Amino acid sequence: MRYYIVSKGDHKSNSIKENMEAQMEANNMIKDADEPEIVISVGGDGTLLEAFHQYCHRVNETAFVGVHTGHLGFYADWLPHEVDKLIEEIADGDYEVIQYPLIDIIVNYNDDKEPSHHIALNEATMKTEDNTTLVADVNLRGQHFERFRGDGLCISTPSGSTAYNKALGGALIHPSLRAIQLTEIASINNRVFRTVGSPIVMPEHHYCLITPVDQRVIMTSIDHVTTKHHNVESIEYRVAKQRVRFARFRPFPFWKRVHDSFISDGRDE
Ligand code: NAP
Repeated sequence: MRYYIVSKGDHKSNSIKENMEAQMEANNMIKDADEPEIVISVGGDGTLLEAFHQYCHRVNETAFVGVHTGHLGFYADWLPHEVDKLIEEIADGDYEVIQYPLIDIIVNYNDDKEPSHHIALNEATMKTEDNTTLVADVNLRGQHFERFRGDGLCISTPSGSTAYNKALGGALIHPSLRAIQLTEIASINNRVFRTVGSPIVMPEHHYCLITPVDQRVIMTSIDHVTTKHHNVESIEYRVAKQRVRFARFRPFPFWKRVHDSFISDGRDE
């Protein structure tokens, strides 16, 4: 078994990583930063996002698993005291792979620059560079839908629906649904300007094309990475063909994770 461990970088996460590496070596597992079959993130969901982007070119070959050193995560759902058990399970190679949808993003430019392709595990957002109102035409599956005015737009995956999307009033979507969700970030709605105002969930055969009106410098955030793009013609979002693979060693249903993260993890009861 070839593995690699990505740490959040704080003292606790680093020492768990070192301890795990020693145990994995003792179990004849090979540390391989280039072609790991399993990538373990130690930190939080943010660390798993980083690990995913480090290895998203191997999305069909690498499975992810997360250990959390802070509070319970959606991706990072193993506790530090369970690490020995996790290593045993990895050594046995006895795990199920579950797959969650990703977003495929294409930024089209109105100069000679080739379109840029990106992939998101949580979400992709679109805003202006100076926090001024984004004015953009929203096109759903080839049909003009609305002219949006506001702070920005967020397109999330089902597993990202518990992250930024939730704070924007989006729905929580079970990751077995191959869908993307479009949510507004502070839209302007009055007698003159109108948007639908509700989150929109699109199936995998639909796509969303957003064309800025008279604004060519656009800030995109894709998970934890923000990028400034010049001369943007449009940005296209759809459910990606690839899916992220998580190694599951025990059942931990999505709604249970939602309950334990947002309602109660039992510690106060
Ligand atoms: P960060 O500030 O460290 O992350 C923000 C929080 O989002 C952290 O508590 C993180 O959990 C949590 N998170 C990440 N993915 C999640 C998921 N799928 N479900 C539930 N919570 C999740 O920032 P970062 O490390 O750069 O991470 C970028 C992510 O932050 C973005 O993908 C976005 O979803 C999220 N974000 C949220 C808001 C908001 O809720 N208002 C605003 C901006 C960005 P951990 O502590 O376990 O890492």
